[in-house]
This record gives sequence, C-alpha cells and structure tokens, in this order.
Amino acid sequence: MPAHESERLKQNLIEKAHQLGFVLAGVTTALPPESFPKFQEWIAEGRHAGMSYLATERSLSRRSDPRQILPECCSILVLGIPYDRPNHPSGGVAAYAWGDDYHDVLKPQLQAVVAYLEDQVGHPVPNRWYTDTGPLLERDLARRAGLGWIGKNSMLINPQQGSYFLLAEILLGIDLPADDPLLTDHCGSCTRCLDHCPTGCILPDRTLDAGRCISYLTIENKGEIPRDLRELVGSWLFGCDICQQVCPWNRFAVERGDERFAPRPGVPPKNLVDEVTLSAEAFNHKFKGSPVKRAKRRGYLRNTAVVLGNRGRLEDLPGLASALDDSESIVRQHAAWALGKIGGTAARQALQNALAFETEATVIAEIEASLSLLE
Ligand code: SF4
Ligand code: SF4
Repeated sequence: MPAHESERLKQNLIEKAHQLGFVLAGVTTALPPESFPKFQEWIAEGRHAGMSYLATERSLSRRSDPRQILPECCSILVLGIPYDRPNHPSGGVAAYAWGDDYHDVLKPQLQAVVAYLEDQVGHPVPNRWYTDTGPLLERDLARRAGLGWIGKNSMLINPQQGSYFLLAEILLGIDLPADDPLLTDHCGSCTRCLDHCPTGCILPDRTLDAGRCISYLTIENKGEIPRDLRELVGSWLFGCDICQQVCPWNRFAVERGDERFAPRPGVPPKNLVDEVTLSAEAFNHKFKGSPVKRAKRRGYLRNTAVVLGNRGRLEDLPGLASALDDSESIVRQHAAWALGKIGGTAARQALQNALAFETEATVIAEIEASLSLLE
C-alpha cells in the first residue's frame, strides 16, 4: 500500500477508535519489546511471586516477540480507555474494579475497530486483540506507540490523561506507519509514589516486588497474606490505587470514563462487616460481571477479614466470629488474625470456641497466635 494511503488508513482507524471511547490510540511495530530482558530478570529474581503463569516457557516466548502470537503481525494498535478516579481519598476497591469487568466492556469495542479496518481495506486482516489477558508487555508497547512514559510506579502515564486508564492492543497483519515513542521521562525528581507506597514494594528500576504489592496480595495471591504485610494492607479490599492517587500527573486527568465503569451497587461496600459472611450465592450474585470475581469468594472474604482487623472496631467481632465457621480455611485463618488484632473478651471467647473444633493446622496456629496476644 502506498505510504500516503497507509497513513490515511491509520488516521481513519485512530479516529474510529476515538469515536468508540479510546481516548488514547497509537501504532507501533511488531518488533520485540525493548523491556523483555528486564522482564526476564524480574522473573528470574522471583518478583512475580505466585503468578507462575508469567514464567512458563510458552508465556516468555510469546512475550519476547508479538510475532510468536500472530506470525503475520506487522503493526500493533495500542489503545487506552479511561475509567473515573475514585472520589474518596483511599480505601476499598481499586477504581478500575468499581464497574463492569473491562474484559467484557472492551470486547465489542475492539471487535468494532477490527471490523472497521476490514471494511476500509475490503478484505479480512489477520488480528488478535487483548486487554490485559494476553502474553504481551503491553506498557512497553504503549510507550513505544507514543501513549506515555513508564513512571516510577511502573504505570504507563500519559501527560494529558494521567494513569487511570485501561490498555488494549490489537495485533494486525497489515503495515501501518508507527508513531514515535514519548522519550521524555516526566517523573523528574518526584518520588511521591515511592514515599507513599505502604509496603515499599516499588523497586528502583520501575518494576514492583509483586509479592509485597497490595494489588497482588488482594487479587492474584491465592494463599494467605503474610502476617507482616496484613497491617500494611490497611483498608484495601481489592487492589490498591495509592501510587496513582498520589501521582501529580493524575491531577490533570479528565473524568469521563465509560459509564459501564461507573460504580456497581455495593462497590465499595457500605457495610463492610456483612462482606465477611457473604455466602457463595451472594458473592456470585453481587460480583457477576465484576472484576472483583477474580479474587474469588475466598480471597475477597480473606481480604475483608484483614481490613476489619485493621479498622479494629468491637462491633465487627460477631461477624468475624461467624467467619470462624466458614468452609474455607483461608477465611477462618484471617478471621482468627483479625479477632486477635481487635481483641477483647468476646474475641478471646470466639477464638477459644473455635479452637475446640478446628482441624486445619494453619488455622489452629493462627488461633493460638491470636490467643497468645490476648492473654
Ligand atoms: Fe504500592 Fe499500592 Fe502501588 Fe502496589 S498498588 S505499588 S502497594 S501503592
Ligand atoms: Fe513519577 Fe511522581 Fe507519578 Fe511516581 S508519583 S509515577 S515519581 S510522577
């Protein structure tokens, strides 16, 4: 295709993406992402914690080169769609998870972009699209497509939009002119995200020690939250936005997210103690089509117990005592920790009662640890 035609096609495609709500749109090549060696090092150092799916041979091979995913790939259209910033100072649920699951929201929009392209060129175009789910180093591709720079908090930051947006990529078997990367690092001497991160998990090379990041601990982590990190989780039930909330570049972000990202009823929950005894049926009903489902009921109730322990209210003791009967040992374990943290006669009584019938070693150890604090 002559250069002027492929430039016009690209501009039409970007305009279509804007019409569909993607405020950020840029094109990059199918070349391997420059940050892949750094990603390999990060994996080798075990910074991915329990996310073993990132470290498989197949995953690494695909992340090393987009053409491992789509051999015909010549160009990648990288898109960003904003979600509204939370209007509360901190706590609860990360803003991206307040509304409908972005995978469901973005799917028809990405399909519409591809359909438009195929209509423009008059033939099918090999393609694969992803939003977070694919084996791509998507922030690197977004940076290369000119959408922003990778901040010290490891987020992609756009000078006009800040960082409250979701990324999506469409691998295309058609050659489009690539955009220039944004070469300036606008973080400068700022260290606000490093200073405010509760767990100190932001590393000097703009990556995270995932095993200490609250987003990992409350979402991808399927096991216990390490004891030394539970207090640091603070009031975060699902994810964490602190390193975005403190970033000065988010002051300029315009709130105009897709209404499907608007808060669903009960997210974040008004009455937190009710969440720690949610039945499986109630959890599935409440979070159907929500990103929060990713944590599964046992993870969400585990997190709730930790948050209740951290807020330390005596009126939460009956709910936590009921959670000592939960069918999931991970929930019972964290409820036992929370009871020990809040303390008082009722907490000690509930723990002693539970010790009489508990059979799971991890829970027994947690109950005993809490009781020893209350003696
Ligand atoms: Fe730190 Fe929270 Fe940001 Fe993770 S999400 S790096 S815990 S501030
Ligand atoms: Fe960069 Fe400061 Fe934002 Fe951190 S808070 S990402 S250092 S601008």
